Amino acid sequence: MNLILLEDGDFVAADRVVLRGRRLQHIRDVLRAETGQSLRVGRLNGSLGTAGVVSFAAEQVELRVVLDQPPPAPQPLTLLLALPRPKVLKRILQAVAGLGVKQVVLLNSWRVDKSYWQSPLLTPAALRAQLLLGLEQGRDTVLPEVLSRPRFKPFVEDELPQLLAGHTGYLADPGATVPCPAAASGPLLLAVGPEGGFIPYEVDLLTAAGLQPVHLGARALRVETAVAALLGRLLPI
Ligand code: SAH
Repeated sequence: MNLILLEDGDFVAADRVVLRGRRLQHIRDVLRAETGQSLRVGRLNGSLGTAGVVSFAAEQVELRVVLDQPPPAPQPLTLLLALPRPKVLKRILQAVAGLGVKQVVLLNSWRVDKSYWQSPLLTPAALRAQLLLGLEQGRDTVLPEVLSRPRFKPFVEDELPQLLAGHTGYLADPGATVPCPAAASGPLLLAVGPEGGFIPYEVDLLTAAGLQPVHLGARALRVETAVAALLGRLLPI
C-alpha cells in the first residue's frame, strides 16, 4: 500500500478521517506510524495529499488530512480483454489500475470458459476491491470503470464502433504481420485475447470493426504478461 485511499464515509470533518480495519492495520503494523507522523493519502476519485496521525484508539486511527495535489493523469487507453480465469483477472485488474488505465471491458470469446462469467469476482464489490489494491499500489485515486460484455458479436457490432470513435484500435495477435508500435499517440483501444487466443472469426470481426492486428514478437505470451508488455510499449511514461 503506497497510498492510503480515503473514502467519503471515512471523513468525520472536512479535514479529518477515522480509519479502521485493513488501513488501520497497515498504518499501525506495517508503517509503524506514531502520533504526529505524516502519511501519503488520496481521496477516492479526488486529490492526493498528506495526513498527520492525530491519535490511535483501540481499533481506529484518526488522521488530519491535507489534499492539495492532483492524481496522475489517466492513461488514454481502453483495454478490451477477453475474460481470463478469475485468478489471472485479479492480477490484471490490479496491474492495469496501477498503470493508470481507466476503462476495461471484459469480453466474451469462443475460448473463454463459460464458468468464468459466474465468478464472484465479477460482482461490483469484488471488482472494486481489486481496483483499489491497484490504485493503492500506483498512488492514484481515480477508480477505473469495468464493463462486462458476455456477448461477443453484439458488443463488437453495436458498441465497439462508439468506443473506437476518436481512438486508434489495436488487436494484440501473435500471428499479426505488423509489430506493435512504441509509444503510440492519442487515445487508444487495445484488445487482448483469451488464453487460447481469439478464433479467426473473432479476429475477422474485430479487424472489420477497425482494430489493427499487431504483434509483440513470435513468442505466445501469457495474457497477463502480454497485457503488461503491450501497455509498457504503447503508453507514454
Ligand atoms: N494460443 C494462442 C496464444 C494466446 S496468448 C496462439 O497461439 O495464438 C493470449 C493473448 O495474449 C493473445 O490473444 C494476444 O492478444 C496476446 N498475446 C500473447 N502473445 C502475444 C504476442 N507475441 N504478440 C501479440 N499479442 C500477444
